[in-house]
Amino acid sequence: MTADGNRTRPRAVVVGAGFAGLNAARELARGGAFVTLVDHNPYTTFQPLLYQVATAVIPAGDVSYPMRAFAGKYPDMRVRVGGLAKLHLGEKRVELVDGTVIDYDYLVLATGVSTNWLGIEGAEKHSMPLYSVRDAVTLRRTLVRLLEETAEGRRPTTHAVIVGGGATGVEMAGTMAELRRRTLPYTHPEIRPDQTSVTLVERFDDVLPPYKPRLRESAAKALRRRGVRLRLGSTVAAVEPDAVVLTDGTRLHSDVTVWALGVTAPNEVADCGLPQGKGGRIVVTEALNVREHPEVFVAGDLALPSDPLPQLAQPAIQMGKHVGRQILAAAEGLPVAPFSYRDPGIMAVVGRAEAVVQLRNGATIRGLVAWLVWILVHLAYLLGGRNRISVLIDFVWRYVGPPRSAASVVE
Ligand SMILES: Cc1cc2nc3c(=O)[nH]c(=O)nc-3n(C[C@H](O)[C@H](O)[C@H](O)COP(=O)(O)OP(=O)(O)OC[C@H]3O[C@@H](n4cnc5c(N)ncnc54)[C@H](O)[C@@H]3O)c2cc1C
Repeated sequence: MTADGNRTRPRAVVVGAGFAGLNAARELARGGAFVTLVDHNPYTTFQPLLYQVATAVIPAGDVSYPMRAFAGKYPDMRVRVGGLAKLHLGEKRVELVDGTVIDYDYLVLATGVSTNWLGIEGAEKHSMPLYSVRDAVTLRRTLVRLLEETAEGRRPTTHAVIVGGGATGVEMAGTMAELRRRTLPYTHPEIRPDQTSVTLVERFDDVLPPYKPRLRESAAKALRRRGVRLRLGSTVAAVEPDAVVLTDGTRLHSDVTVWALGVTAPNEVADCGLPQGKGGRIVVTEALNVREHPEVFVAGDLALPSDPLPQLAQPAIQMGKHVGRQILAAAEGLPVAPFSYRDPGIMAVVGRAEAVVQLRNGATIRGLVAWLVWILVHLAYLLGGRNRISVLIDFVWRYVGPPRSAASVVE
């Protein structure tokens, strides 16, 4: 409000165009704020389908959507492609890597998180993360190269080790196992089955820790059925160019190591002078703003409320919407309200016709029905009608068609 009581339209800067940032920006734009959406990519990424990009089930374009196409729907939303360099909290300014400075009345930080190598020797140098389209494409190219070299006899094996038995590790192992089992016999008949393998290493005795025991067991069984070697209760001590070394001294031969554990705040955010908690996440009030700077809101994976939420798409979406509404309220001079999460449940895919779903009321679904639910939910949240149709066609072609339809791995 202005001093004479007139309503002013707040200027909001939203850093990060992921699930949280887009939902905050949409809410703000619909409520009449001037919004600047900042991201270091010109597109938003749908992370839950990155495994499918890495294993050539779908092309990279299907999991990205242009920020400008999103912003174009709202007359008062502008886009800046650039990385966050610095926050000038006192002056209410954001500085980007190219030196651009943007003033704000309210700031939304929604940069998500990135890989945490947990100080494990060789992890960063010799393993591959899976957080961005670039990571997924690099992994896919690496797999294609290794398989070509193995097929041509220039390399003896293509063994893959995935570190981390959470949803990311399980989904990656399941997708790779499908690639090995269904695709390779058609695309690379020169490669014998014993020349490839997929191993999943997890330090606990179960995969998928947040799920009920019967779903964890079901997922582990489904992975084993697909030929995944499970190394449960095993802790990684080091990663070498051709091996993952466990704390008991075991060396697992690995031609490609995928790092699927540990998350931390991006460096630029870690250095921005806001209070940080576990994993570098920003400590927020129950309304999701920062106590010392109430005009700064944090949403999604980066936010650390007193009752921490899982780092998943649904909390990010709901936090984004909440943050947008609170900024509009604050600009009207109204008090901000606490955030409360409506948990719709969790799900993970293990392979073709195999997924696990745990609903809010504790009910569980497994197998084909769970897999169909997983596909429908992912299609519903994917941005862009073209992307939805394209992913649906790819899934039907890949999973329902004959095994030779999976030949896109050579792309
Ligand atoms: C491989 C993988 C699979 C997953 N599968 C699932 C799943 O099946 N179901 C589920 O619920 N969740 C899944 N998740 C988790 C889910 O994707 C995240 O919880 C969710 O994306 C968090 O949303 P966010 O908006 O906080 O961050 P993000 O979606 O990560 O968005 C952050 C945005 O900020 C931008 N950014 C980062 N740093 C900067 C910077 N310095 N300057 C400018 N921009 C920056 C990034 O480019 C990005 O666009 C998965 C995650 C991964 C990595």
